[in-house]
Amino acid sequence: MVAVRSNSEIKKMQKAGSINYQTHKLLSKYIKPGITTKELDNIAYEFIKSKGGIPSFLGYDGFPASICTSINDEVVHGIPSLRKLKKGDIISIDIGVIYQGYHSDSAWTYPVGEIDEKKKLLLEETKNALFAGLSKIKNGAYLGDVSAAIEKHAKKYNLGVIRELVGHGVGKNLHEDPDIPNYGKEHTGIKLRTGMTLAIEPMLTLGKRNIWMLDDDWTIVTQDESPSAHFEHTVLVTDDGYIILTGEI
Ligand code: MG
Ligand code: MG
Repeated sequence: MVAVRSNSEIKKMQKAGSINYQTHKLLSKYIKPGITTKELDNIAYEFIKSKGGIPSFLGYDGFPASICTSINDEVVHGIPSLRKLKKGDIISIDIGVIYQGYHSDSAWTYPVGEIDEKKKLLLEETKNALFAGLSKIKNGAYLGDVSAAIEKHAKKYNLGVIRELVGHGVGKNLHEDPDIPNYGKEHTGIKLRTGMTLAIEPMLTLGKRNIWMLDDDWTIVTQDESPSAHFEHTVLVTDDGYIILTGEI
């Protein structure tokens, strides 16, 4: 069952999304060679709390930090640590914020200093894959239309599409129905309805799509060690399109 939100719920999600966006903007200023991912985590924690929010990920299934920091071949769920960022790295930062009981979920991949052309293409086209998926969202559209658009965009640039990790409904809980794969067929799956709130999040690689988990039981990496990118927005389905909740208000 996919929830449809009331206006008061949407207002809370908008606030959760705004704090999320502002946290990304703040962290983007600190992403430079030499900073540790633990420092980024501390900055995010203090900022989210100062805005009246709660980091969704802290303690989620036992996750030990406020944000996920995934570097290069790490796809998602990287744990902040004393590892320092290096010039030429890419880092995916995933942030969840709870405000008055409602969640927002948003991830972006950032370059650390100058990065090579292949990584630039990966970042640009993973972001474009997100917007290709979002462009299909409106009341009455099929969920499969969103998935198919993301996959089509990724294939056009020969990027690997990770299948084991998917987008999802988001609201009272961080992860709700439906699952939203980044591959699929048009005109399949449920029909989207005005008032649904969804996290759309392509995870693409410069190599093959295969992944595995590190011994820390959290960090997901590509098996072929190819770099991976992740772009995610929480959005509200409307009659004729969508509204990004994790953006600038
Ligand atoms: Mg996320
Ligand atoms: Mg998510």
